Amino acid sequence: MKIVKKIAELKRLIKLVKNKKKIIGFVPTMGYLHEGHLSLIRIARKHSDYVVCSIFVNPIQFGPNEDFNRYPRDFKRDESLLKKEKVDLLFYPSVKEMYPEGYKTYVEVEGLSSVLCGKSRPGHFRGVATVVLKLFNIVQPDIAVFGEKDYQQALIIKQMVRDLNLNVKIITAPIVRESDGLAMSSRNTYLNTEERVNATIINQALIWARDVFYKENIKSPEYILNRMRQMIEDKGGTIDYIAIVDKETLEPVRFVKKGDRILLAVYFGRTRLIDNTAV
Ligand code: AMP
Repeated sequence: MKIVKKIAELKRLIKLVKNKKKIIGFVPTMGYLHEGHLSLIRIARKHSDYVVCSIFVNPIQFGPNEDFNRYPRDFKRDESLLKKEKVDLLFYPSVKEMYPEGYKTYVEVEGLSSVLCGKSRPGHFRGVATVVLKLFNIVQPDIAVFGEKDYQQALIIKQMVRDLNLNVKIITAPIVRESDGLAMSSRNTYLNTEERVNATIINQALIWARDVFYKENIKSPEYILNRMRQMIEDKGGTIDYIAIVDKETLEPVRFVKKGDRILLAVYFGRTRLIDNTAV
């Protein structure tokens, strides 16, 4: 596996790969890798001949009071996991390499970026769209894989690709969970033992919601969301947002139907966890 830190060097290598007519698959990450990330890499491999993974904790997608500085990092461990997955190239740039002094350009995907996570984290998706467009321009992938764990993010990236006529196909991948149902996340490491146990209620509440819809034919979002809220708060979670929305527009639905999306962000202690499911 090649490890590249410089953009110019990466572009040079990518040109050689493109000359060989290889299909490039790309998985952008912020590192501290887990099975969720690795599942994306395996999907990328299925759809391409040359797999590029990036590790970059992107400062511009973190708010001033968020966890940029304490975001978990373990490059050596990540490197060995990616080698095992036979990733062809790991792009691992510094902040200065991505945002040199005088950096001024940002990408705004309107609408989708201002609801749910975008409302709680102003500027977050502007940072995400900007770094992903930069990474796409540097890596020039034919396909890129994003996890449904960050459902809103994947929708925003797809919108950006459509709107800016980018030559990359976005593939989304299902959420990978721990054996007790908690969605895998680099941030799970912040949880103390009690919070970690209590956080399993998130997935249980999502499963409960699907069950009442399918088994009891309950279509009222208010009813479902109130009960979910109660279940989570009983376990000590503080709800940031919880919503049942149209899977494309992210607008709240008046009556729940198959295919709608239930999304939520919940704090356990200081740790903000997100999760979602399709109805
Ligand atoms: P991150 O490193 O958190 O920025 O995530 C990088 C990519 O991995 C994003 O496309 C995420 O949606 C995806 N991802 C993170 N956690 C999971 C998970 N538990 N299951 C599937 N994909 C995930």
